[in-house]
Amino acid sequence: MNDNDRLINSEAYVITQTDYGEADRLYTIFSRRNGKIKAFARGIRKSKSRKAGHLQSLSLIHLMLAKGKNFWVVTQADTLNPYSSIKNDLAKTANAFYIFELIDHFAPENEPILSLFQLAKETLDRIERESDLFLIIKFFEFRLLKSTGYMPNLGTCVQCGEKILPQDQYFSAEQGGVLCPKCGLKGYAVRKISLPALRYLRFIQRSSYNELEKAKPTKEIQHEMESLMLYYLTYITEKALNTPAFIHQVEKTTKKKRNDDQGN
Ligand SMILES: [Zn+2]
Repeated sequence: MNDNDRLINSEAYVITQTDYGEADRLYTIFSRRNGKIKAFARGIRKSKSRKAGHLQSLSLIHLMLAKGKNFWVVTQADTLNPYSSIKNDLAKTANAFYIFELIDHFAPENEPILSLFQLAKETLDRIERESDLFLIIKFFEFRLLKSTGYMPNLGTCVQCGEKILPQDQYFSAEQGGVLCPKCGLKGYAVRKISLPALRYLRFIQRSSYNELEKAKPTKEIQHEMESLMLYYLTYITEKALNTPAFIHQVEKTTKKKRNDDQGN
């Protein structure tokens, strides 16, 4: 066993944390060097712990870890980017937690996926400095699906193989793509998808982030896309995701506050 197997020195994000015993904490960490790992921090909940201030969710941190018996053990933690504008904005916070929830589902343990780490970092940088969360999140979801092999098939019917024509279609999460109207009507647990939403999905699939910024979809298409992605991601992760409901609640509260402010 060489040093590389016993020590980690890497950029990382905290995905989850759970209190353990009197003063310790167990973390799920997403690191550039080793992917998703479990890490243990001793005495972290004691007031004099220097690491505590740095081992935070929603911060890019630099971690040093040593191989313990069952887990990696945190030996040093430093903040590289505190993402203050995310932490000061509830909608940004909710969306950043959504990114980590998806990474937790999709990233295998102890397997570095550099492209996924890079994607997470770019996405959080965008959430930190930009305001159009819809674009940022949709771009992230599609790149995540691509890097984990779940990109939906949008060109031909996943049932009969016919080319998809420019009309309203169906979408099957189980079959991983679009169904033509003929197969869709007979399909099980399928969703309708409008032609404009399908066009926008294809646009996301083939575009860079800069290209996406030039063509923003209408509110109706945004809602349709959000509902469709939630249906697809819930199917893939085999689990109801927690953060979308939180994001929805934050949006509702923000909207109500805006209306109240305008009314006064
Ligand atoms: Zn078909």
